[in-house]
Amino acid sequence: MSLLDHFGQPAVRQQLDTILSGGRLPHAILMYGEPGSGILPGALSLANDILCTSPVNGKACRHCPSCNRASKNIHPDLHFLIPLAGSKSLTEQYLEPWREALVKNPWMDVFQWTQYAEVEGKQVDIHKEDIQHVTGDLSLQAFEGGSKVLVIWMAQFLAKEGNRLLKMIEEPPEQTYYILVTNQREQVLPTIRSRCMQLYFPPMEQEEILRLLVEEYKIDRNEAPLIARQSVQDMGRALAVAHNTMMNFKDEMAAWFRAIIARKGHDLAIWSNKMGSQEKEEQKQFALYAIAFIRNILWAIPGNAPAEYPVEGGEMIKYLHQHYQPDAWHPAIQGLQSAHEKISRNANTKLLWLALSISIKNQLAAYRLQHINS
Ligand SMILES: [Zn+2]
Repeated sequence: MSLLDHFGQPAVRQQLDTILSGGRLPHAILMYGEPGSGILPGALSLANDILCTSPVNGKACRHCPSCNRASKNIHPDLHFLIPLAGSKSLTEQYLEPWREALVKNPWMDVFQWTQYAEVEGKQVDIHKEDIQHVTGDLSLQAFEGGSKVLVIWMAQFLAKEGNRLLKMIEEPPEQTYYILVTNQREQVLPTIRSRCMQLYFPPMEQEEILRLLVEEYKIDRNEAPLIARQSVQDMGRALAVAHNTMMNFKDEMAAWFRAIIARKGHDLAIWSNKMGSQEKEEQKQFALYAIAFIRNILWAIPGNAPAEYPVEGGEMIKYLHQHYQPDAWHPAIQGLQSAHEKISRNANTKLLWLALSISIKNQLAAYRLQHINS
């Protein structure tokens, strides 16, 4: 089963099926929802339905040449409009990294897209010239004689320039469909919103994320459950972690605890500086990951580890479990929970991490098991 059939939002797919089988698909659709909820995969799935030349109940057959090209995002009547750096940049100049990103992580956010496009740190936007260019393309005959689709990714970037699209959305050229994708619906011009059928994507279920990681992206079955837990219902984040483009929590955790056990203040300061300079959302996610990791230590009794906490970093967990009393870990969990709450409003999170590191270090020293020490 392909990602186009099953993009992790069964309820949304069901809604689309009903609309398509009833032949009631409007020309403009606004798909919106939480980051990493699969809006773009949903848009690509619908685009394929529209472009298929032998649809079944309005749905893509997945066998015709049009389906074949649409599934690779190389269909000549499948157009994109995406945020880019530089006002003269055109989407068609970025099709190569764009297609690569669609294969590797269609759940990505804008920051991750800038990494694929190699414009990290630069301001991106959907620019006037690009809009003019793509609307010009859409006014031409369809290459394959069927329908044309424009997918506008992160439609909130249209801002005022969106007015240029209004007329086309109101009076679309024949057999032309607009699929707008956004995770900030309120930022899309109200005049555009009101002309679109709106379709909401809820946060993804953790089981769906796990299933996609294993079945679609071939992530190791032992690694996938922890990545799914860590993703906090954001599939884009799960894939970024799986592909190591974001901070690798497993390595950070190991580095942190090595410094704590060795009671090396200098290493702890370096580690805290590094952690405290990450994005705040990233730091909060790490705190949640660390809590799950410590719970594993408490449960690392053979046969006693609940299935939803597969033991990762097994050697270190085993060591920590054997060398410290269980009481050592409860304050650590509380400290991490409190850090998770404070990170958003704390100006200096480097100090917050350092204070927490020292407190855990002292706690562990007090609860080290004597028989191991001697
Ligand atoms: Zn087809």
